[in-house]
Amino acid sequence: MRSEEAAVAAPTRRLPPVSRFLDEPRVAAFETFLGRQTLKEHIGAVLDCARAAQSQPAFEALLAGVLNRIEIAHGQTLQPVINATGILLHTNLGRAPFSGAAIVELQRVAGGYSNLEFDLERGARSSRYGRAVALIAAATSAEDALVVNNCAAAVLLILDTFAKAREVVVARSELIEIGGGFRLPEVLERTGAELIEVGATNKVYLHDYERALSPRTALLMRAHPSNYQISGFTQSVAPRDLVALGKRSGIPVIEDLGSGALVDLAEYGLPHERTVREAIADGLDLVTFSGDKMLGGPQAGIIAGRTTLIARLRANPLLRALRVDKLTLAALSETLRLTLSSRRDEIPFFHMVRLTPEELRARASGYTATIPGAQIVESIAYAGGGSLPQSAIDSIAVSIAPKCGADDASAALRRANPPIVARIENQRLLLDLRTIDPAQDALVIAALRAL
Ligand SMILES: *Cc1c(COP(=O)(O)O)cnc(C)c1O
Repeated sequence: MRSEEAAVAAPTRRLPPVSRFLDEPRVAAFETFLGRQTLKEHIGAVLDCARAAQSQPAFEALLAGVLNRIEIAHGQTLQPVINATGILLHTNLGRAPFSGAAIVELQRVAGGYSNLEFDLERGARSSRYGRAVALIAAATSAEDALVVNNCAAAVLLILDTFAKAREVVVARSELIEIGGGFRLPEVLERTGAELIEVGATNKVYLHDYERALSPRTALLMRAHPSNYQISGFTQSVAPRDLVALGKRSGIPVIEDLGSGALVDLAEYGLPHERTVREAIADGLDLVTFSGDKMLGGPQAGIIAGRTTLIARLRANPLLRALRVDKLTLAALSETLRLTLSSRRDEIPFFHMVRLTPEELRARASGYTATIPGAQIVESIAYAGGGSLPQSAIDSIAVSIAPKCGADDASAALRRANPPIVARIENQRLLLDLRTIDPAQDALVIAALRAL
């Protein structure tokens, strides 16, 4: 409707009629799937756009726009996007990109059968976790391990196994909510465990935990406050002291580490984050962490710790509902193998953290040389994924002030092929180069020039 009115208002602009697009075989191919009305709406939107811009592109260009719109709205469920936000582990953008080696491994096992639960030596059924467990043990020094759907599932399985109708002691400062509605107190409640909060928001002492113990205490629990920080007048209990209390009282001490650094991040210029190996060395009985945060692998939740406790987790029927598939195990194992090798920086997360501002600046000059008005600015990138509150990484961005305004320009970039997700700061569009694959620089430059 709107397109016809606009056409009357500007009779000099001649755009091809909607019917010409509908007759085009590449559009018509979608008709049984989407219906004629939906196709007309997409065509109308592209024509409206051309009209609003007072441009008269060739039919082929308009057709490409129509096909692109259809693809974005109805194409594959997931589309690769270019992450120009500078947030390395962006939960909305799929968190950790996989290493080339992990992708090869996926291809190797995805299309056929594999020995997922089959011992080739004995010709009998085996556990699906074996190989991954050995790698987790090597990376953390834990006695045993288990892999489930994600870190939230790992916490759920532990609480369900050990704390049903019993008490779990947690410091008030660690009653976290993580993005996506994962609130520790609510997960506890779900599993039928009773939360015993100790300490004040900013301070907790060992005697607070001690006093909270009762015959019903199932676990002493620590949780990493991944996405916030309490600073100033604070007091917390060292993991080793809590472990000693657990030992004296015969109560397991567990910790939800969240990101679970397997390597010393100080090596990458980030603040040192207690590693999983250090947590195990502190004597924690069980720890949990994600596969797609600092580990740089697939979505998964890893539980590492004592053999006796892991055995009880394995025996919980809930594990059947939380278990991971062959693809997760393949990608996770390969990522762990890289982590343990000299090739760790092939994992995109580590590669991106390692990039120097000089390298980024050199690439940025390729942008400013071809995009009128573009500037090179200092930027702050973040590890992200609710992984570390203090993960600011000095970075370099290309900053532009588009004529059509930053919001419209940002929307236009999201419609590019592949879509580009940028940041807006002070009415300017910022593209942080740390998270953009250099192989895609040319695509980003072309999209920015087209603005
Ligand atoms: C991120 C995080 C989780 C949730 O991890 P998922 O793998 O996304 O389920 C749980 N606990 C902590 C402390 C976290 O940082």
